[in-house]
Amino acid sequence: MPVNVQRGYMRMLRIAEHYVTVVGVEDRTSWLRRVRLYAPDLVETLRGHPTEWIRLWVPDSTRDGLLRQRGYTVVASSPEGGWLDVDLVLHHPDGPASAWTRAVRVGSKTVVSFTPQKPHLGHQQPLTVLADTSSLPAVESVLSHLAAEAPERTVRVFLDAQGHDVAGLLGPRLAKVQLTDDPVAELAAVADNLGPDAVGFVWAGLSRQRISALRTALRSAGIARDSQHVQAYWIEGKPFG
Ligand SMILES: Cc1cc2nc3c(=O)[nH]c(=O)nc-3n(C[C@H](O)[C@H](O)[C@H](O)COP(=O)(O)OP(=O)(O)OC[C@H]3O[C@@H](n4cnc5c(N)ncnc54)[C@H](O)[C@@H]3O)c2cc1C
Repeated sequence: MPVNVQRGYMRMLRIAEHYVTVVGVEDRTSWLRRVRLYAPDLVETLRGHPTEWIRLWVPDSTRDGLLRQRGYTVVASSPEGGWLDVDLVLHHPDGPASAWTRAVRVGSKTVVSFTPQKPHLGHQQPLTVLADTSSLPAVESVLSHLAAEAPERTVRVFLDAQGHDVAGLLGPRLAKVQLTDDPVAELAAVADNLGPDAVGFVWAGLSRQRISALRTALRSAGIARDSQHVQAYWIEGKPFG
């Protein structure tokens, strides 16, 4: 089976590949599908912090046998049951991961790898989160974590729902969320009007193009590097790799 460079590199670093089986498929809504993976060895290595993510390897239909790697947030897991859940956006145009998700069935098999991460939410008040639908699962994990572990922490989420209705998904958590077409402009407006202290710690999972605009906004607002964790989640108009 041909492997791509990234997979070869990860093998060189001895990052384990887990062969996993789909044991559940549930549509949370028409564009967000929850997939449960049976992966007991992998689940044991998870740290269980909010925003934790795995690398899912999915077939690229344009090249026989080639697998592509895509990041997905762990939204639930059970060491006893040996499973973990991921919520995958069904987007247009399809890429290898969304095409795999559309076709996935109980019994489907795939490969997952995992590189342990540290929690990246800082401790500053407030926590400002910039997100779109790709990082909505991460946002949900952050809101659940804070509600349970740090209810005193103020959190403000600027979410681009990309034309989707997220009210049913978020329920009462919608109160913490400001829907917007431009999360970066919202952050810049807060920083301009109220200063960097009003922004606190910034967590962002957005398209690469928006992350680039965000880095510029953070620099001009004077937000320190240790007060931010920003990561490209996808690339507008291009496959992720
Ligand atoms: C740390 C991390 C965690 C992530 N967690 C999740 C998660 O929990 N759930 C989730 O759904 N995604 C998540 N993502 C994003 C996901 O990995 C990307 O969206 C990925 O590019 C999808 O791969 P694909 O093969 O479907 O599309 P690609 O081959 O990457 O792209 C094909 C086309 O689809 C477009 N596209 C890709 N993603 C989106 C999108 N989200 N919305 C609209 N258009 C898109 C591209 O611009 C391109 O035109 C995460 C990414 C990272 C880095």
